[in-house]
Amino acid sequence: MIPANFDYIRANSVDEAIGLLQTHGMEAKVMAGGHSLLPAMKLRLSAPEKVIDISRISGLRYIREDGDKLAIGATSTHRDIEFSDLVKSKLPLLAEAAATIGDPQVRNAGTIGGSLAHADPAADWPASLLAAQAQIVVKGPGGARTIAAEDFFQGLFETTLADGELITEIRVPFPAANTGAAYKKFEQPASRFAIVGCAAVVTVENGVCSRVRVGFTGAADHAFRDMNVENALTGKAPTAENIAAAAEQAAQGVDLMSDHFASEDYRQHLAKVMAKRALSEAAGRA
Ligand code: FAD
Repeated sequence: MIPANFDYIRANSVDEAIGLLQTHGMEAKVMAGGHSLLPAMKLRLSAPEKVIDISRISGLRYIREDGDKLAIGATSTHRDIEFSDLVKSKLPLLAEAAATIGDPQVRNAGTIGGSLAHADPAADWPASLLAAQAQIVVKGPGGARTIAAEDFFQGLFETTLADGELITEIRVPFPAANTGAAYKKFEQPASRFAIVGCAAVVTVENGVCSRVRVGFTGAADHAFRDMNVENALTGKAPTAENIAAAAEQAAQGVDLMSDHFASEDYRQHLAKVMAKRALSEAAGRA
């Protein structure tokens, strides 16, 4: 499969990339790892006339501590995050989620910013970033703004990114003491995309779950935070019974997807199972 002809332009800075997007408008698309854009171009689902490569902008690929948060540059690859000692020690949920993405080739090339911008309903990052209360920093011709992960994903391949804006950084607060986290997914066996994936972050204080955050991916047309599950467990002891009861609330009232991988009913069932597994493991690690 061969894509339609396009011009390749390498941007050397974020400002240059934003300028190129302004100049070329709808004709242009940025490319980071190319592991979603290029397949779409080969299938002729996307046919940009200009492809602006941002993967070699040096200031966009980093993982560092910034006060009480982890700051991840948008072109950090899944592999960078999977193997980062800082991530493993301070936010192991992210290393765990990264390791579940695709195969080594995909993890070597694909980037966290590209995954978020693409907003595939089955992508792994959104669940963990919703549960970990991440913020997404974007920059465009009008300057920079910060968007909470829970406001970012709007629909099928749809986000709050405006035309001409680039994701530059993902900011994730370090968890409080006595907090555990886990990501569990039922995956498509060939691609490893999530048919249903659930991330949970649980803080246990004085024998009760004082704070619970749950994010789902794969289940609906976009990733979502599940406050029904969170509320059902908050203030309760992290017992198997309480976790099972909270997991029963999973994806209630959500318009779930149905496709050749899983029916709506099966996704509803999987959401409960994945929630139970993620909550149990997160609470056990708290
Ligand atoms: P690109 O393909 O370069 O870009 C994707 C889109 O995002 C484009 O529209 C582009 O213009 C835009 N974009 C890129 N970077 C930015 C930015 N910084 N700001 C604004 N817009 C931007 N993903 C999973 O989550 N789980 C899986 O199990 C999984 N399995 C896969 C298996 C295969 C075989 C393949 C090919 C892909 C798989 N993926 C999976 C997707 C993979 O993780 C992609 O790399 C990722 O979704 C997109 O990242 P990218 O850097 O390759 O983005």
